[in-house]
Amino acid sequence: MSAFNRLLVSTLPLVPKAIVGRVAARYVAGETLDQAIAVVRNLSSQGAMSTIDVLGEEVAEREKATAAVEEYVRVFDAIDKHKLDSNVSIKLTLLGLKIDEGFCRDNVDRIAQVASKYGNFVRIDMEDHTTTDATLRIYHELQPRYGNLGVVFQAYMRRTLSDIDNLPEKGASVRLCKGIYVEPRKVAWKGFDTVRANYVMALEKLLARGVYTGIATHDEYLACAASALVDKYGLKRDQYEFQMLLGVDEELRRILIASGHRLRVYVPYGRDWYPYSMRRLRENPEVARHVLRAMLSGR
Ligand SMILES: Cc1cc2nc3c(=O)[nH]c(=O)nc-3n(C[C@H](O)[C@H](O)[C@H](O)COP(=O)(O)OP(=O)(O)OC[C@H]3O[C@@H](n4cnc5c(N)ncnc54)[C@H](O)[C@@H]3O)c2cc1C
Repeated sequence: MSAFNRLLVSTLPLVPKAIVGRVAARYVAGETLDQAIAVVRNLSSQGAMSTIDVLGEEVAEREKATAAVEEYVRVFDAIDKHKLDSNVSIKLTLLGLKIDEGFCRDNVDRIAQVASKYGNFVRIDMEDHTTTDATLRIYHELQPRYGNLGVVFQAYMRRTLSDIDNLPEKGASVRLCKGIYVEPRKVAWKGFDTVRANYVMALEKLLARGVYTGIATHDEYLACAASALVDKYGLKRDQYEFQMLLGVDEELRRILIASGHRLRVYVPYGRDWYPYSMRRLRENPEVARHVLRAMLSGR
């Protein structure tokens, strides 16, 4: 990322919310479930699967967490009704993790039950390092009960290689990503190449253990390394998948699908789009151009 883009990233919180919303619109399906359904259908027509995420993070009131659970029930009903090729992704802080771990676990339990009723799957996103232990505890407790939960490992975390060792022998499903939160150096690798190297090591470890892995990246270097590992381990199409975020590098998405890989797109929707959009903008190497254009055009 250029120095100017880095400078703009540091001032992003000062950019008016309306401008952020305009520039970040491509990362979000919309505010409603109907809009998410339309995006999933469109992706499906392009050969991509989806994972639907209800936007929202850390809640302090139980009612908000319960409302999020009910929204996920609506999502599963809609996936079934419209026969969509989609599972869901959940964030535990939205489901009350910071209120009470037991309350959050019960909420995840309910979502996993509904997923199970429909033969569907729930991916538990990984948030910042203060949530990692609790997230893995909830995953390890509920996965044996339902068998339809997956977790996320972040390649920037120093603990990731040993967390892989603690996965269940059978039935584990992991999304591997670089990691998006700003973490202290004592828990996270910081160098760009170091994170890439740890990603490749973690991916090889997962594939060697036979773990179904969602290879979540838009980094062409990693997509190339991952394709080589898929070949090395002789994996069939249904033994792994690539994953990408809505609105990011659609050309790479098309290339991976055309090469015969399965690919899933992360489709977030909801009214609470601001924190998610800010994280996406911070990663956009051309953020300055987009923000300046939106400000100058006044649209
Ligand atoms: C499906 C999916 C789920 C994820 N879930 C989690 C999670 O649970 N927890 C977590 O911490 N992180 C999650 N992430 C985010 C991830 O950790 C990275 O922050 C993000 O994917 C960027 O890393 P990268 O591997 O794409 O490499 P990068 O080096 O960051 O990006 C590679 C290239 O992709 C393009 N690009 C990347 N981001 C953008 C953007 N926002 N706008 C425009 N172009 C862009 C650029 O061309 C860039 O050079 C997820 C990512 C994906 C794809």
